[in-house]
Amino acid sequence: MKRVLLLFMVGFLQMQAQQTAPGFFFVKTIGPLAFLKYGLGEDRLGGAKQGFLDSNILLKVVDSNGISYRVQLSRNHSAWIEKQYTVRIPGKQPAPYHLTGSMRLRGARPFDTLSISVDERLPYRTQQQINPSRIVLDIYGATSNTNWITQLQTAKEVKNVYYEQVEDDLLRVYIDLKHAQHWGHTVYYDSLGRLQVLIKQQPPVLDIKKLRIAIDAGHGGDNLGASGLRSKALEKDYTLKIAKQVQARLKKAGVYQLFMTRSTDTTLEMPQRIQLLKYYQPDILVSIHLNSAGSDAVRGTSTYYRYIGFRPLSVAILKQMETLGLKEYGNVGNFNFSLNGPTAYPNCLVEVAFLSNAEDEKRILDPKFHAAVANKIYLGIRDWLAQLNK
Ligand SMILES: [Zn+2]
Repeated sequence: MKRVLLLFMVGFLQMQAQQTAPGFFFVKTIGPLAFLKYGLGEDRLGGAKQGFLDSNILLKVVDSNGISYRVQLSRNHSAWIEKQYTVRIPGKQPAPYHLTGSMRLRGARPFDTLSISVDERLPYRTQQQINPSRIVLDIYGATSNTNWITQLQTAKEVKNVYYEQVEDDLLRVYIDLKHAQHWGHTVYYDSLGRLQVLIKQQPPVLDIKKLRIAIDAGHGGDNLGASGLRSKALEKDYTLKIAKQVQARLKKAGVYQLFMTRSTDTTLEMPQRIQLLKYYQPDILVSIHLNSAGSDAVRGTSTYYRYIGFRPLSVAILKQMETLGLKEYGNVGNFNFSLNGPTAYPNCLVEVAFLSNAEDEKRILDPKFHAAVANKIYLGIRDWLAQLNK
């Protein structure tokens, strides 16, 4: 009897606490570039990102720190989001649960589309896996009521779709791919509120001439980038010179679907670049920068990727770059560079060499070197395609 009374009192006090101070409120994401962060870490590239979120995603705010909110994604998972990417939804009441419905996979070149019914625009996260290649999609706050998954023959890239309820309110969807190479994916909610995963199909012919290639010259306009050790040469000028050489080399090789994020000395912010690329829908992106370090002894060439599925392109380009006699500075993964952030297409950042090193700088200033770098980038892309053709 005493125990029942105690439980009753505890329950009553909890109810009271909830009524007086809920301790949370709801927001939704706004804009095309909202993203979740793991924590409040900051360095020159910003905090480590979990991934981008579509707009109008429902998030439960449970804490605030400076420019960021902590959001509870599911019972056991939280993340941070900058307040600028959210707007408050007054009076929104929490739902006891959210259910997923049927899933449907279909294909229409150049994408396979997986459509998932969900009763709310819930937050999500994707991860690329390799060997075997697949996309893992986590839907936070979702409990399965998915009783069928239709998979149509028109799907060309996705081999299997299945799911696992890994936690009571965390649904994990596995999307097995036919090819070893990830060609990119995009997640969003359609106008009916269904979660859509667009999976890029591998092009039917792996020929560089058939690819849509985007080239990005780093910095520009007001954004000068690094400057030369002795020459005071500006990074923005030399990234453009090299990018133009890459464009010319690819044209000569018969690539006619080419896109330059900039071809003049103009200021272009990262969000603008990402939007331009989103609109162009390249098959691959190569971004060109020149490196700089605090110590003038540091030199060499390096390539960068963010997601493991996009690594092979950056390795192939690095191998070619090293044949220029540049020292290996490395192949760097999980790199938090804005243009390595999109998951929609394989992308690679090339830090050609160091402007802050005398030996590298001398080469950077030489127009013949720009043409040689362009040729190596072209050969790197070709090597990558050749590996995929094996
Ligand atoms: Zn740079």
